[in-house]
Amino acid sequence: MTQYFSLPRSLPMIARSVSSLISLSISLVLSLVLSQEARAQKLPPPPQATVVAKAIDPSPVDYRAKALKILKQTPLIDGHNDLPWQLRKRSKGELNKLDLTGDTAKLDPPMQTDLSRLREGRVGAQFWSVYVPASLTPPQAVQATIEQIDVVKRMVERFPKQLGLALTARDVVRLHRQGKVASLIGMEGGYSIGHSLAVLRQMYALGARYMTITHSKTTPWADSATDAPQHGGLNDFGEAVIQEMNRLGMIVDLSHVSADTMRDTLRISEAPVLFSHSGAGGVCPHPRNVPSDILNQVKENGGVIMVIFLTGYLDCARFEWWAALSGEKARLKVLYPHRPAAVEEGMTTWRNTHPAPQVGLMKVIEHIDYIRDRIGAAHIGLGGDFDGMGPGPVGLEDVSKYPDLVAKLLQRGYSAEEVKGIVGENTLRVLRGVEETAKRLRSKPADERPPLHWIE
Ligand SMILES: [Zn+2]
Repeated sequence: MTQYFSLPRSLPMIARSVSSLISLSISLVLSLVLSQEARAQKLPPPPQATVVAKAIDPSPVDYRAKALKILKQTPLIDGHNDLPWQLRKRSKGELNKLDLTGDTAKLDPPMQTDLSRLREGRVGAQFWSVYVPASLTPPQAVQATIEQIDVVKRMVERFPKQLGLALTARDVVRLHRQGKVASLIGMEGGYSIGHSLAVLRQMYALGARYMTITHSKTTPWADSATDAPQHGGLNDFGEAVIQEMNRLGMIVDLSHVSADTMRDTLRISEAPVLFSHSGAGGVCPHPRNVPSDILNQVKENGGVIMVIFLTGYLDCARFEWWAALSGEKARLKVLYPHRPAAVEEGMTTWRNTHPAPQVGLMKVIEHIDYIRDRIGAAHIGLGGDFDGMGPGPVGLEDVSKYPDLVAKLLQRGYSAEEVKGIVGENTLRVLRGVEETAKRLRSKPADERPPLHWIE
């Protein structure tokens, strides 16, 4: 216990005892009040209140051992990693020029993914995002998406001992048993299909197993969370895309879409959906997070929200900081037109006087807790967004840190079954559900409507 004041040696012993007693009582009352407050706010109890529990719980080392055991039995499936985009940006897709067997944290700027850190993080399966920017025209987007699928396939071919291409839930389980990272392909942004159901079908044939319905921009058939709505969710063509995805066996990914697009999709989808990298809007109402009034529909659908690690979505203080930073940048650009050095200098001063609020691993747990409390742990997964975001939360800086997150969940009282669900079983359930739906719908003929720009 911390001694806040000292007594002169000359005072009798009794005075010391009285002071200790008073100090002890104050601490007890304080910790009681704090823990009641924490319960009311559904926050983790403050450290003062956990002293007794820690004394009887196994040490953190045991939680880590337990976490590693779970990750051996159950593939940890991450919903979103932008390594293919890093390859495109940094080496124009040439694997020779970016050594994934080395430590990519040493690159400038540092990366969050490489083969040894994937192993250290016990990643069992990864949805590699074949993201392409929303600014591309439809034909450019289709070409870039195919090139990104090609990057993933070349990566898998180049490292056959570490990676294996996964097209089904069965593949994920088999490759994990072989000690490889099951590599799934996820398209990010509906424009990847050039507004054409024929392209959608051929992307499936090339191996794409999810499509995020939009990225940052609204498409001609679906509203994005971060752009002006045009359709009130999905329009007729958008609904046809969802139905064709159900028929093919491609997972519908609802990260990035507007709340109305989520509602429309959850109303019509015959298969369970994923949110490949999103947080809980109830913890931070960022437009990219899942609003709380959608959660019951997610539960009914059997879907899974794969919780993102992007600090600005996890913590609204960080989001506010980012907004203020963007505002300052805009201000400086007006003050110093065509003087990038002056803008940069001004930004350095601003950053020094406005440090970013720190976001740690516990913030990810807060989002997980929130979803669990509302619809249950069966609807939670993990979707880090590594190499598609800035620095990760403290304690979850790169793909090697998943076991620490799993250990923390166990330490906080999540059962082994719940944790197995969160790390991978829930997402496997979605994958299997999507496969079963496709099997059921197989006899339905393909939707032959022409590409959207032909109709208009
Ligand atoms: Zn994204």
